[in-house]
Amino acid sequence: MKDKNEPLFPERRKFIKGVSLALGTTALGIPLLSLSACQSGNADSAAQEEGANQGNTQKKKLGLALVGLGGYSSGQLAPALQETENCYLAGIVTGTPEKAEEWKQKYNIPDKNVYNYENFDQIKDNPDIDIIYVVLPNSMHAEYTIRAAQAGKHVISEKPMATSVEDCQRMIDACNQNNVKLSIGYRLHFEPYNRRVMELGQKQVFGPVKQIKAANGFVANDPEMWRLDKELAGGGPLMDMGIYCVQGACYTTGETPVAVTAKFGKVTRPDVFDEVEESIDWMMEFPNGAAADCTTSYNKNEGMLRGEAENGWWELNPAYSYSGIDGETSEGDMDYPHVNQQALQMDDFADCILNNRQTIVPGEMGLRDVRILMAIYEAARTGKTVQIQS
Ligand code: NAD
Repeated sequence: MKDKNEPLFPERRKFIKGVSLALGTTALGIPLLSLSACQSGNADSAAQEEGANQGNTQKKKLGLALVGLGGYSSGQLAPALQETENCYLAGIVTGTPEKAEEWKQKYNIPDKNVYNYENFDQIKDNPDIDIIYVVLPNSMHAEYTIRAAQAGKHVISEKPMATSVEDCQRMIDACNQNNVKLSIGYRLHFEPYNRRVMELGQKQVFGPVKQIKAANGFVANDPEMWRLDKELAGGGPLMDMGIYCVQGACYTTGETPVAVTAKFGKVTRPDVFDEVEESIDWMMEFPNGAAADCTTSYNKNEGMLRGEAENGWWELNPAYSYSGIDGETSEGDMDYPHVNQQALQMDDFADCILNNRQTIVPGEMGLRDVRILMAIYEAARTGKTVQIQS
């Protein structure tokens, strides 16, 4: 077996170009099985992609507006938008006038590109805004994605895509009806260590995958946070952190699980966890016979993804963080560049729009994952094995 651990991305710029040029067919040699496993018939045709990739070399920066200026927008997305090549921070949508003032100054955003939740729909008349990125609490993703689509704007929704399968479908339908593209903020599809895991698993570099282990969590200390509010979050750590384990297992195998079993963990802080679960363990069975043992918690700081195949293994730890991802395989340390994941993710979506090609992280993938999350909750509630329809 060769090249199990050779650096794929010698330096960042090359990687950006690799993403821009190669996605849509195979990215950096990785078959995008995880995409085909969740694509609906309505995705852009391969012929369209092919033609667009060949013909269009124009370079235009698209304008992006962030909806919701909380921790992720201010800590990660806005800084990343200072590094992007295909899009820039053109506008903001916020319910807090003081934040609007601060952001206008900091990022040089003109008054005409500042909206609140009431006048948001007027954004349809603003030619500066091409992409709307919804970074609100989970249960609000559906409403703002649909309103953005109705305004004729392309949309990125943060994960989890929504708090119900029905909402996910409504989001996809609204984007299709308004002829705009929809993507989910799955940044790790643009991160070299996680991409290598996709390759090791999907290409069976160490033989068929037998077992996956995934864990993700943090200690939730603020009882006031929306993440503990069932209405806004849709659930507890499974919706917020466990989704990374679901994603990790799916992109390791390139498949969608066929069945799940699950168990809620013990509640150690009943005063804090009176609406959502404190922790949950679950097992997913994949069609090729692989099994994924997963755990997520709001009571433990962790984040790992391990794959065991017939002839070797790999493990990322930390696996899902914004920086500092590290890993090894049965053949030695992994050594890949550390990239700005959010910049690559947003640049790739802008490139999809500019070159009319399908994103590798589409709404259909978000819907697939929410369907899995709902099956996990049902399995934990009933104590039964729940089958998943793909
Ligand atoms: P946050 O609490 O820091 O920010 C939420 C924002 O929504 C705030 O600006 C708040 O003012 C606004 N908001 C509007 N209406 C609200 C309401 N009714 N209740 C509460 N807040 C309201 O949250 P965050 O960490 O920025 O998360 C936002 C979204 O981004 C979530 O869906 C989360 O899952 C996702 N996220 C993704 C990543 C990632 O790595 N992809 C990382 C962090 C968060």
